[in-house]
Amino acid sequence: MKQHRKSPLGDSGHVLNEKDDVTQLLILRFQQLLSEGLLAPGTKLPPERELAANFGVARSSLRPALKVLEIMGVITQKVGDGSYLNRDASSVLAVPMEFLFLLDDTSLQELTEMRLMMEPALAAKAAERANAEHIALLRQSIVDLEHSKCDRVRLVSSDLLFHRAIFQASGNRLAGRLFQTIHRAMLNMMMVTSQLVDLEHTLQFHQPILVAIEQRNPDLASRLMTDHLTDARDLLLHSRQQETSRQLRNHLAAGQSVNKRFRKSIALSRR
Ligand SMILES: [Zn+2]
Repeated sequence: MKQHRKSPLGDSGHVLNEKDDVTQLLILRFQQLLSEGLLAPGTKLPPERELAANFGVARSSLRPALKVLEIMGVITQKVGDGSYLNRDASSVLAVPMEFLFLLDDTSLQELTEMRLMMEPALAAKAAERANAEHIALLRQSIVDLEHSKCDRVRLVSSDLLFHRAIFQASGNRLAGRLFQTIHRAMLNMMMVTSQLVDLEHTLQFHQPILVAIEQRNPDLASRLMTDHLTDARDLLLHSRQQETSRQLRNHLAAGQSVNKRFRKSIALSRR
């Protein structure tokens, strides 16, 4: 199985840590249990202690992995109650875990295109209509981001919180609904981009947007949001190109070694 990699660097060049490994392990096990009918969507999961023992992992590494599954939409954690497998968990789990492939080219491009059409306009509306509560939420998301350090789950959650707060602050109730609809796609997109940049990079974009909203400057808020999303789009395009050329290189290298082996076996047969 693939999750026991010796090198801290995965195939796609990003640093895999224990949390990613446990998350992959959990996803594989959940997929298996669901397909065998041993776990039904909507089921309450066993307590953490039991889960950790079942999966053969430490509780301390199980917890962050469960958090990832929660933001992916696989499970819901209820405080003081436990974790539940979501009704549509199997469709989420059907998606491969390698984050770079969580979204295919088309949907990623379409999402980016739609975000670029919508979010600058929503940021402008937020600059006109945000109330104290919205501003507090936006500030909170920035504080969370600053404290996320190497915690990618926290980084992605705070990025998502910032954008959700802008949807809400736009004062358009339909925008809030829309956010729920594209929430998971946005989450996936952020999972990808969070691997490509550090938190400082995201902060550099979020902070000025917050200031523009606080200063009630719709034009500036809109322009800065366009910059932020254009940057994200370019990052994704660039990483996709790198990934394609890496695959091509691997493919060619594999072809060469096959050729070498082929020539060797011909040489041997001629002896
Ligand atoms: Zn952002």
